[in-house]
Amino acid sequence: MPTGTIGRHPTHPAWPGQASRLLTDHILGALVELEEGIRQLRSLIRRSARGREGATANAAMTFLAAHLDWALAHHPLAVEVHDRLSGNPAAQIHGWHRTALRFTARDTRLEHHRVPCPRCELLALFRADGDDYIECRNSNCGLLLTPAELFAHTKAVAVEYAQAAA
Ligand SMILES: [Zn+2]
Repeated sequence: MPTGTIGRHPTHPAWPGQASRLLTDHILGALVELEEGIRQLRSLIRRSARGREGATANAAMTFLAAHLDWALAHHPLAVEVHDRLSGNPAAQIHGWHRTALRFTARDTRLEHHRVPCPRCELLALFRADGDDYIECRNSNCGLLLTPAELFAHTKAVAVEYAQAAA
């Protein structure tokens, strides 16, 4: 089971390139592990010989892409909630993506809150990594909410939604 070691314990590289090496090992190992798990669950032939790293990564990606629908909908762990130790394939893939984004740090990670903005009603509420407020990214709006305000707003929208559906 992938453990997300890199995300949890900041590494202090002992040699140049070690951090990216650890990241690559982590994601490649997890790709192969997920592929092998799916092969077992679906009674498919195990991949015996593994070539070089690039070939292994390509083969695992090709396999996982082909079996993605099954993995997301029918994998026995597909019902697990998304947390760091989840065996849910979707959570794992999401975790690799987050880890890679965090590592490359090219973009501030944004959490998209899928509830309409209380002012402009667009689905434009985001919280950036480390921010203590939620911002509407609609440039004509720019509303800022605290997490408590967002929570209250989300609850109100949910009630409204339930009443409309009833
Ligand atoms: Zn807005």
